[in-house]
Amino acid sequence: MIFELKNVKKILYIVLDGLGDLPIKELDNKTPLEAANKSNLDKLAQKSQVGLLYSVAKDIAPESDIAVISLLGYDAHKYYTGRGPLEAFAEGLSVEDGTLALRVNFATAQPDGKAIKDRRVGRNLTTEEASALSKEINSKVTLTNATFEFKNTIGHRGVLVIRPMRAKLSGWITNTDPAYDREGVFGVAKEEFQNLVAVSSPMPGHEKSDAAKEAAFLLNEFTQKSGVVLLESLVNKKRISENKMPANIILSRDAGDHLPKFPSIKERFGIQFGSFVSMPVEKGIALLTGMSVVEVPSPSGHLDVDYSVWAKIALESMQNFDGLYIHIKGPDEPGHDGDFLKKKEIIEAIDKHFFKNLIPKLNLDEVVIAVTADHSTPCAIKAHSADPVPLLVYSKDIKPDTAGSFSEKEAKKGSLKEILGKDLMPILVKFAKGQ
Ligand SMILES: [Zn+2]
Repeated sequence: MIFELKNVKKILYIVLDGLGDLPIKELDNKTPLEAANKSNLDKLAQKSQVGLLYSVAKDIAPESDIAVISLLGYDAHKYYTGRGPLEAFAEGLSVEDGTLALRVNFATAQPDGKAIKDRRVGRNLTTEEASALSKEINSKVTLTNATFEFKNTIGHRGVLVIRPMRAKLSGWITNTDPAYDREGVFGVAKEEFQNLVAVSSPMPGHEKSDAAKEAAFLLNEFTQKSGVVLLESLVNKKRISENKMPANIILSRDAGDHLPKFPSIKERFGIQFGSFVSMPVEKGIALLTGMSVVEVPSPSGHLDVDYSVWAKIALESMQNFDGLYIHIKGPDEPGHDGDFLKKKEIIEAIDKHFFKNLIPKLNLDEVVIAVTADHSTPCAIKAHSADPVPLLVYSKDIKPDTAGSFSEKEAKKGSLKEILGKDLMPILVKFAKGQ
């Protein structure tokens, strides 16, 4: 057995959030990745096989959560139970089967409590204000035959868990947030909508479910009663006196009634992963799939420092695990901002400070490396898209392609062709075990 273990290579699974992009005129029709000066990644690509990856499915522009679930080897359609439960769990709230968990945000409604003036409270609600409002909601609102826990997270965002005192609740209810719809458990942004606080009801096919009717009733009751508390709050009176919008309504979406039940990665593949993740939801997924969470500094704005620290911690923690899942947030945000120069710069910083401090210090005979992304965030679209992302897989046992660099264009010609996110982990495990 010991002999067998010795021959297992360590896996370094590196995901660059929102890396994929489309050609940009100002960059000579190159993508930010293609335009970036990134000799370390390119060198690695020259020793690797490359291809294109669709993290969830060909026609899906995924949120990070279902993309990560897929990249870790799970069929998101089978395991995902909605963003609500995942986000509530990630924020430290307990989500038992039959409790209702939602993601929420503070918004500004007209005094009638129906028409929405601003979905994000003018984007200037501070965490202090949101915390004070949450406290008031938790202490002043009571629900019929249920308790609840409301928690603000970042800015105007938050989570809500409603716990029934009697029978279990069902997550199959519609959103009160009119900007988002549901396709099964997947949340989707609506292209057109009436900007009115919606009334939750059981979803089609669940109209007769008492658990869904009760859940919708409780959510509507919460929305109405929290609205009254918010309207009277001194926090909001102060905001109005400062000519700011009041946070006077809670919009909810992505309900679910249980956490996903993943068989752990260790159970499935016999490999214990350590994970480098910075967002709460990704931490939640890491814990639910049985990965250990390695403490890493969250982005401070000094990217060069951050990325070299991550490389250093990666080298150290490789001793402790069979594999590392490293999720680097950087490229996604400039994609959302449409800032292609910034995106190119961040890719260069990751290359210069993360990969440069990592790859040359590895014994390349003893590792399997994958570099890819969770989705594309094209600068032209400023949102996640269904475009595939480049993938490289390195192992000393692999016959390299002739890719000169790590890029969307080269990936398209690679021998890995097109693969789905959920199929990548088994491939890496196979290389790691030398099968
Ligand atoms: Zn994003």
